[in-house]
Order: sequence, then structure tokens, then C-alpha cells
Amino acid sequence: MTDHDLILLALDDSPVFQLMGRALRAAQYELAIAQDVEGLQRAMQESSPALVLIGETFAGQKGLQLSETLLERFPTLPILLFSERDTTGLAKDVLRAGLSGYLYPPLRTGDIVEAVNRSLARARRLGDWLRREVKMTTSSLEERAKLSETDRARYESIFSNIQDGVIVLDGRNNILFLNPSIRKTFGIGNQDVIGKPLLEVLSHPDVRSLLTRAAEGPLKYHEINLDNGQVLNAQFTLIPKIGSAITMQDISYLKELDRLKNDFFHTVSHDLRSPLTALLGYTELLDRVGPLNEQQHDFLRRIQASVQHITALVNDLLDLGRLEAGFDTRRETVHIESVLKYTLDTFETQARAKKIEFTSSVNADVSPLRANPLRIRQLLDNLVGNAIKYTPEHGKVHVGVTMRDQQIILQVSDSGVGIPQNEQARIFDKFYRASNVPEDAQGSGLGLSIVKSIVESHHGRMWVESNLGHGSSFFVVLPAHE
Ligand code: ADP
Repeated sequence: MTDHDLILLALDDSPVFQLMGRALRAAQYELAIAQDVEGLQRAMQESSPALVLIGETFAGQKGLQLSETLLERFPTLPILLFSERDTTGLAKDVLRAGLSGYLYPPLRTGDIVEAVNRSLARARRLGDWLRREVKMTTSSLEERAKLSETDRARYESIFSNIQDGVIVLDGRNNILFLNPSIRKTFGIGNQDVIGKPLLEVLSHPDVRSLLTRAAEGPLKYHEINLDNGQVLNAQFTLIPKIGSAITMQDISYLKELDRLKNDFFHTVSHDLRSPLTALLGYTELLDRVGPLNEQQHDFLRRIQASVQHITALVNDLLDLGRLEAGFDTRRETVHIESVLKYTLDTFETQARAKKIEFTSSVNADVSPLRANPLRIRQLLDNLVGNAIKYTPEHGKVHVGVTMRDQQIILQVSDSGVGIPQNEQARIFDKFYRASNVPEDAQGSGLGLSIVKSIVESHHGRMWVESNLGHGSSFFVVLPAHE
């Protein structure tokens, strides 16, 4: 019991009322007395009693109803109801109304004090529990809020400090977040852009086409070319329940490297090829300026063959270098049949000279592919050239193109010398020539390496099936353009 707990008495004057007053005072409680309903309300407001003791009827009104109203405003307030008699429904009504208990005559001082003490103790326990719960909930909420605040600050600091540009969009392409890198790159400064449509803030045509392409399907690579020469590679990623994210990396240095390498290749090929062309030219001029004997003619032919061989080698090496460096990015719709026509024309004479039966077939359902037509021509030239080169006179060479599962299948078959089983895997290596290569078959061993690089850069695959002494079939599978 707390010494100065205040008990509010809302009882009509009666001997019992007097008894209660005395008993509670004797038990060191302070008392407040309400004369009527208004007084009761006022006392509740002004003195915040620890407990209310109310009569079953008070100032002409029902104590139970008054209690219910009080409990609506002060749900943890302990209320004891005093009834003139213990009727059967009383306990039920008291419980239903949410009161802490009731008293009825005959009453002894001890009964009154004990009932009040018990109710107060219970109310105190309830209050303590409530306060504890509230405190726990509040602190856990605070903790959670603090955590997410820390997380937010951490993520913001990460995104703010990374060099790459990051934009987070909602489902309607409105900006939810963008980092300082994007602000700097696109000159947005400190403008408030959150919530605005991306295209309103970054009205660059490449950003517009990025969103258009992203809407059509997954997007891995999209270049954004800024007016100041800066080139960005943008990626668009869908984020479930949020929208999407765009990241942008500055690839200007890669572009510059690309340019330098191209310059290098250009210079090297020019510097190496020009003197070779000059050499060839002079060898042709030699017999025009004076008569050459048979031996000199023979030497000249050997020089010319060697120069042509070196030129082919230089060209192959430059090609391979370019392919392996990934510089072959030109892609357009290519109909393999039309490219094949040129290859067939080119090798027609050679085939005829060797009396080779040279045939081809292209199925009507063959789809076009996304490719660099020059590289496809190079691929066909190499495979068909090899087939004729490694097939003796009166042999057969066939080129077939078919379609299966959205893939284009090219097959170049010959009835030539074949490739020893244990060497078949190595013929795609640079400079590798099989041990059974006929003596008169010229070559650098680079052709198939180039073909393989072309196939790989077009996301295809290739393999060989060969029977030594009977012939070979080279297969190339390339994805068709959807
Ligand atoms: P090369 O310039 O020697 O023809 P490639 O890289 O084109 O170089 O081919 C590598 C090797 O693979 C050849 O030297 C040859 O041994 C073998 N090869 C390629 N195509 C055929 C073929 N159609 N028939 C037999 N052997 C072949």
C-alpha cells in the first residue's frame, strides 16, 4: 500500500458511506468525495485518483454505466462497485463492465480496506506490466528505427562514394534515388529530382533509348555517349517490389584504348604490308627491264611465293589479333546463302582445276543471323578453302546449310586426306598443322584458329568429325536471329 493513494468516493450519503470514509482514512488513504456526476468527472480530471469507489446508484444514475464511461477514458483505473445487496447478476455485470470488484453488506472495516488494497495492488501490477510492455515495444521500435536509419545511412554512403552512377526508379520510372556520380555526370547539381520522371531529369536520347530497350527485354549493354566525349555503359536491372535500377560505368578509357589499338593495328598492317606489296611489285618488274635466265625465273617465283605467304600470314595474324581482342563488334542481319555464293564463286576455279565435285545445298527454312558479314565470309572461305586444299584430285566437297532449334548448322564435308584421331583437337590451335598435311599444301596453321574465334565471337560452336584417309566434316552451329 502506498501511503498517499487517493481514493475517490462516489457514493450517496449513507451510514455505509460514513463507514467507508472512516475505514479508508484509518488505513492512511487520502479521500476525495464526489457529490454528483459532474463532480466525479471533475475529480477524475483534476486529482487523478488511484481508485474509485462508486455506488450501484450514484446521484440518480447507474454506477455501472458511470463506471463504463470512466473506463473508456481511463482503462487501467481500478473501480470498486458498492451494492446494497448481492444479487445473482451483479458479479457478471461487474466483470462484463471491466471493474476490479464489488462490495456489499454486511461490511466490516477490514473487508473494505482489503478490497481496496487488493484492487490497487492488481492495478499497480497491471500498470507496471503495461509500462514495461510499452517501454519494451518503444525501445524495440526505436532500435529497429535506429537500425534501418543506420542501414540507410550506410547504403547511402556506399552509393554516394562509388564511382559508378546509380539510379533507382519506381515502377513508373520516377526517380527514387540517384547518387552524386550521376548528378555530376549529367550536371544536375543539387536540384531536387526525387519523385520526378527520369526522362524529365535526364533528357538524353541515349537514356530514352535505354528505357525503351529495357522495356523490350533484359539489357546488359547500352552505351550512353555524352556531348563531352564521355562514354558510359548502362545496365538496367528490374528490382522486385521497388522498380528498377540503372548503373552506369564510365568506359571512356576503354573506348580510348580501343581507338589506340585500332590505330596500332592499322599502322602495323600498313607498315608490314606496304613493303611486302612493294617487294612483290618489283619482282614482277624485274623481267621487264631485262631478260632473265630460267634459274633467275625460278628464284623469282620462289621469292614471290614467299612474299605472298608472308602477306597472308601478316593478314591472318592481324585478323586473329583483332578477333581475340574482341574488336569484332559489327553486327547486322546476314543471310548465309548470299555470303556462301561468293565463297563458292571464289573456289569454283580451284575445284575445277582439281576435278573436284563441288556441290552445295541450303535448306529453304534457314533463318538469317546477326553477324559481321565479312567475318562469315572469312569463315566460309577458310573451311571451303581447306576442304579443297586437303582433297586430292577427283574428290568431293559439299557445303550444306540446315536449320535446327533456331540454330543454323553449317557443314563442310570433303573426301580428302582426313585428320589423325589424336590430332583432331589440336588443329584449332594457332600454327598447328597435322602430321599428314600433304607436302604441296601451303598454309600457316592459323586459318582454323581464326574460324574458331569468329564462331565464338558470334556465340556459336564448332567441331570436326574426320576419318583418316577418307575425309573430314567441319560443323559450325550459329544462333539464328530471332
Ligand atoms: P592451314 O593453313 O595449315 O590449312 P588451318 O588452321 O586452316 O591451317 O588448319 C589446321 C590444320 O588442320 C591443317 O594444317 C590440316 O592439318 C588440318 N585441316 C584443316 N582442314 C582440313 C581438311 N578439310 N582436311 C584435312 N585436314 C584439315
